[in-house]
Amino acid sequence: MARGGSQNWTSGESEGRPEEQTTEDTGDKMVKETQYYDILGVKPSASPEEIKKAYRKLALKYHPDKNPDEGEKFKLISQAYEVLSDPKKRDIYDQGGEQAIKEGGSGSPSFSSPMDIFDMFFGGGGRMARERRGKNVVHQLSVTLEDLYNGVTKKLALQKNVICEKCEGIGGKKGSVEKCPVCKGRGMQIHIQQIGPGMVQQIQTVCIECKGQGERINPKDRCESCNGAKVIREKKIIEVHVEKGMKDGQKILFHGEGDQEPELEPGDVIIVLDQKDHSVFQRRGHDLIMKMKIQLSEALCGFKKTIKTLDDRVLVITSKSGEVIKHGDLKCVRNEGMPIYKSPLEKGILIIQFLVIFPEKHWLPQDKLSQLEALLPPRQKVRITEDMDQVELKEFNPNEQNWRQHREAYEEDDDGPRAGVQCQTA
Ligand SMILES: [Zn+2]
Ligand SMILES: [Zn+2]
Repeated sequence: MARGGSQNWTSGESEGRPEEQTTEDTGDKMVKETQYYDILGVKPSASPEEIKKAYRKLALKYHPDKNPDEGEKFKLISQAYEVLSDPKKRDIYDQGGEQAIKEGGSGSPSFSSPMDIFDMFFGGGGRMARERRGKNVVHQLSVTLEDLYNGVTKKLALQKNVICEKCEGIGGKKGSVEKCPVCKGRGMQIHIQQIGPGMVQQIQTVCIECKGQGERINPKDRCESCNGAKVIREKKIIEVHVEKGMKDGQKILFHGEGDQEPELEPGDVIIVLDQKDHSVFQRRGHDLIMKMKIQLSEALCGFKKTIKTLDDRVLVITSKSGEVIKHGDLKCVRNEGMPIYKSPLEKGILIIQFLVIFPEKHWLPQDKLSQLEALLPPRQKVRITEDMDQVELKEFNPNEQNWRQHREAYEEDDDGPRAGVQCQTA
């Protein structure tokens, strides 16, 4: 692979690549509203992978298990993801905004429950499975690119509920369970409240005595170990084997290691890998991508360079004799990408993008320029005649230009000359 025709893989990160500013501005997709994108913290041009990743991080952060006060935020994240992860719904949203989503289909906005979205995403098995089984617990595990390249075993300390051994999950002595005397076994309590003259209101609440269970254990018979709760909180260390070639977002399942509850099969513990950004390499599938700065002299006259790999070896790369490297050129090294999961002897490729550093202005005394020019390919002759216009060449800043155009359009729309001759639209 010499010079790639399409260099899409660097999109979204145009820093240090001046040639991209004019050809590809990833933030400029036209959409009606950006609210859902803002909730997930992505650009409207985000790829499905970027949307997934954003949801993964936010959903884990704001899940009610970890952040009980952020239920509303969790719901918004879930709704934004539900729309943006579905190409059809995303299209409707991009064109018509939230209004169009709410009007689409059956009339009422039909968002799935945030928990179902979460379970679907993290492989929890949906509501049916949840009723027969205890809750799954999802944890994020931060790993480096080196960890994913070399493999690593990490210990993770978890808190989990286990069935109390002393009472075997009964909560007290055998036969000590009785119908709750407060709610008479219904699990609910009804309060009558006077809310005005001659007006009363019935309020139903979960019974405080039995916490809605309908039965309780007489305080004097309660298990001393769990205090009647049937389960106790225990610290458990699990060993997470991160295998070579695993990737960001990959899940590692610990079957049946979730919270235990009496009469329920325990749920799973799901570990989700979260890769930290690397200072040198970016990963794309099995491949690694890096940028390498070279001096103009190296670009023209050849070079030798070293690259430190993720397993601490040092690679030496040498340009071919007589070769010229242009700014942005791509080269690759076979078998120096990421190891392939479950087949780690095979590896992807390492792609190197060269960034040529040009010297600063006035780097060479004026009288030496002719010597340099004599060595370089000859310049093209230009014929200049009297009738041509001499104009000034100035610095160009694309951002400033955009800003001016937007402002002009805005001003014209508001109170410009066109206001009087409004286009006729039905
Ligand atoms: Zn009760
Ligand atoms: Zn107990």
